[in-house]
Parts: sequence; C-alpha cells; structure tokens
Amino acid sequence: MITILFALLGLCSCKNAAKEPVSVSGMYYDTLVNIDIYGAGKDSSVICDRCKELCSHYEDLFDAQKPESDIYRINHSSGKTIKVDHDTAVMLSVALDSCEASNGAFDITIAPVSSLWDFHEEDPRIPSDMDIQKSLTKVNYKKVSVDLTEDTVTVGADTTLDAGATAKGYIADRIGDYLISCNITGAIINIGGDIRVIGTKDNKTPFRIGINDPFNEDSVLAALELSDISVATSGIYERCFTVEGRDYHHIIDVKTGYPTDTDIESVTVITKSAAEADSLCTVSILYGSEKAIPYIESVPDTEAFILLTDGTVLKTSGLDEFIAW
Ligand code: ADP
Ligand code: MG
Repeated sequence: MITILFALLGLCSCKNAAKEPVSVSGMYYDTLVNIDIYGAGKDSSVICDRCKELCSHYEDLFDAQKPESDIYRINHSSGKTIKVDHDTAVMLSVALDSCEASNGAFDITIAPVSSLWDFHEEDPRIPSDMDIQKSLTKVNYKKVSVDLTEDTVTVGADTTLDAGATAKGYIADRIGDYLISCNITGAIINIGGDIRVIGTKDNKTPFRIGINDPFNEDSVLAALELSDISVATSGIYERCFTVEGRDYHHIIDVKTGYPTDTDIESVTVITKSAAEADSLCTVSILYGSEKAIPYIESVPDTEAFILLTDGTVLKTSGLDEFIAW
C-alpha cells in the first residue's frame, strides 16, 4: 500500500503509446490496483480487459462483504462443509501455511476480532474489552480445513475468516501467471502494495520500485531493482487511528485482541510469490524486528527491509543485491 512505483502509472483505465506500458487501474477488493504491461502489442486491449475481469473475479470470491463470495459463504456456513472455487481453496491453504509457520501469530480466523476494529470510520472507536475477549475465543486457525482435491472448506461453527493479509498478494500472483501466459515482456502488478514483477522494462531494464518514507511523505528510503520476483510492504501507520494520544493500527495480536505492540513502522519483503511476501510482511510486524530478521533469513530466497518506529533501518543479509540506491 505504501510502496510507490517509479514506473509510469496510468490513471485512465487502459492506454497505450510506443514503448509505454498499457495500464489498468481501479478499485477492487477495497484496494487500489495498478497494472502496467509492456510488450502486449496488438493484444493490449484484450489483455487489459482480461486483467480487469480477473480483478472482479477475485473480488467476487474473496470479498467477505459480498453475500455470494466464497469467504462470505464460509463465514456463514455454521460448520458445514462448503464447496468453493479452486482459487479460494489454494489461497486459504497458502494462508494456513503462514498460520502454521508462525505458530499461530498469524491467524486467518482473526475475523471476529479484526471486524470489531473499524479503520474506515470517520469517528473511530476502541471496541469494548468484553467484546474483544468474547471474540478472541473464536480465533483458532486449527478449526479450518481445506481439501484441495475436492475444493471444499470446513470451519468451526463460530469460526470466520479474514483473508486480508494474503488475498491481495494471491491476486497479484494469479494475474502475473495470466500475463506470463500472454507472452508479454514485462509487467508490474500492484494490488494495494502487494506487487508481482514480471520480466523487464524494454526487454532489458529491471523495474525500479521505491520504498516510501512514512515519516516524510515526499521522500523515499531506497529504490529496489527487481525482475521476475515479488515485493510487498506493510506498515502500522496506514490503516490506523489515534484516540487520546494512543495509536491503534490494523495488525492484531491474537493473544490480546489489540493492535500488536511492535517496533516495526514498515516492512518490505522480497520473495518469489506475492502471496508469501504479503503474509511475511504481516508476520514480521507481529514478530517485531528481533524475531523477524532471523525468521526472514531462514526463509529461502527471501529478503526484508525494515524501518523501525525510531527511524532505524534494518536489512537482511542479501537485501543489498536489490538496492539501486
Ligand atoms: P495491508 O492490508 O495494509 O496491506 P497487511 O497485508 O499486513 O496490511 O494485512 C493486514 C490485514 O491482515 C488486516 O487488515 C487484517 O485484515 C488482517 N490481520 C490483522 N491481524 C492479523 C493476524 N494476527 N493474522 C492474520 N491476519 C491479520
Ligand atoms: Mg500482508
């Protein structure tokens, strides 16, 4: 969400010019989507239209507010097994892997608690402690089972899902796969800060992506050079509010039900899949830097750039390879 692109971002729904990308942009899944595609040639408008269709398709599957969506149906299944789209089953199994890998710090069943916190409201309120404690008893990812052969999902009778920390990255991955199948030469797929990068610009130049400085809107902390990889950024200052001098943000500690106490202001993760980069950002914020750095180091081919709340920058050992300046 907070990563800015140096590449040209089209504001119209689909445009083209020599050597310029064709661009798709819009709001999907409560998120700003920007897709820049290079080398689409005469198929440009068909490819742009299909990207928009895919965005709508995934919103229809994953938006918990839409009564026909798979996530809505799971959340209202009262423990009955539900048939879902294969993509939903895969996305949820990716999220469950993050739950397991983080020993439940990351928990896809956080919905009863996360839904108490409204970061859209003009006059935000802290939920009552009684509501938080009651909702916390419903949080347990072990009550979710996904059958990837049958494409079914079963959850506990009072279990509900919040796919907010995985779905955006997953959508970027799937749109990336589609664009690869179209033989385009390069693309940046940005789903609210969860970014998949395909190929290169002009067949040779890697894409440049800047990491915004949350303490200074007009400046960037670093520029990354990326090709055929994914990058995601999460911060505790984007969806947040302040009440009586205290800041409340959107990443919840499953032990307390309150925004997690973290020393990380923002984290950028580079790895192969955008879904994994997305989840790893959230896990890093939940862990705090002392645990997050060795954790990211332990994940193969994965790097992180972390900005602490005191302004200190931390990097994993291989991050410099991706830094242009
Ligand atoms: P953003 O949505 O700003 O990109 P993230 O990718 O880090 O940020 O995802 C944060 C979202 O994850 C929250 O808005 C919420 O939907 C969900 N979430 C909050 N706490 C947890 C948690 N402990 N485990 C899993 N998901 C969480
Ligand atoms: Mg995330």
